[in-house]
Amino acid sequence: MVSEQELDRAAALLREGNLVAIPTETVYGLAANALDPTAVARIYETKGRPSTSPLIVHVAGAEMARTLTRHWPAEAETLAAQFWPGPLTMVLPKAPHVPDIVTAGLDTVGIRMPSHPIALDLIRRAGIPIAAPSANRFTALSPTNAQHVRESFGDNIPVLDGGPCEVGIESTVISLAGPEPILLRPGILTLEQLENALQKKIAIAGKVEGAHPSPGMHHKHYAPRTPVYLVRDGQLPNGKGAYLWFRRSADADLPIPMPADPIRYARILYEALHRADHANLEFIAVEEPPQTPEWSAVNDRLTRAASDAGLQAGG
Ligand code: AMP
Ligand code: MG
Repeated sequence: MVSEQELDRAAALLREGNLVAIPTETVYGLAANALDPTAVARIYETKGRPSTSPLIVHVAGAEMARTLTRHWPAEAETLAAQFWPGPLTMVLPKAPHVPDIVTAGLDTVGIRMPSHPIALDLIRRAGIPIAAPSANRFTALSPTNAQHVRESFGDNIPVLDGGPCEVGIESTVISLAGPEPILLRPGILTLEQLENALQKKIAIAGKVEGAHPSPGMHHKHYAPRTPVYLVRDGQLPNGKGAYLWFRRSADADLPIPMPADPIRYARILYEALHRADHANLEFIAVEEPPQTPEWSAVNDRLTRAASDAGLQAGG
């Protein structure tokens, strides 16, 4: 898939301050040396991302993570031991040498150890922590294969092809920077798993008074160009459209069956939305999943994908 020479070349590019698109188990990332502000500035330019949106720093292990923080609480140790490498980002008080541009001026830094072997190998070879948001233009759909990345950036950015992403949606984000942990973004690693690991209830950002603000949480995010509608009972809007369904099929120009299991659903969600978007139809209708905890990450991404249209048909 990816040769030793390609990995060495990518590691050298990163050390020299250039960008490389890399596979992770969540989505493909647009990577740069996290400790080089000029390199990180290229990420924002390339994505068209406002500098108010902090980046996640990817590390090869808890030891490297600790060097980026002022304080590494026992809860971080517990979660790292249990869930790293994996789709969990921890927000912690940042060490002074982490550039402000990485954290969008915040005093905290989001850190994750990815499990994709190519990402881990690359970070180890480069010997530096790597800042990487999803490898797409700002607010567009996240890429879950190398082709998606090439569609965004053409030949301008070298892409390491690590195959389709196993998780398929962005990491769960938890803040450990305040007096109590707060869930900032739901993901495939669930609130319940985190609560079991920490042996306590975890508040959800936005649902609690005085929640730790996360400037990255733009409402319009993860959206295809085609308007997305969440529907129940197969009630499709008028016109030509795609329909992502998992319980109830309906007459659609592009019917896309989805798995009834939330983990398998998440794995192919962006691929399905990319495919529907490419068909140049008038709408993408998505059968609304149940409002239960195991679907919360999928529902979060669907709501953001739909928000661009400003309407949600079928209630
Ligand atoms: P991504 O969109 O996958 O690049 O992930 C970036 C997201 O991680 C942001 O939208 C925030 O939700 C979260 N994040 C990263 N760093 C921080 C931070 N220092 N404080 C709060 N949230 C953060
Ligand atoms: Mg993104």
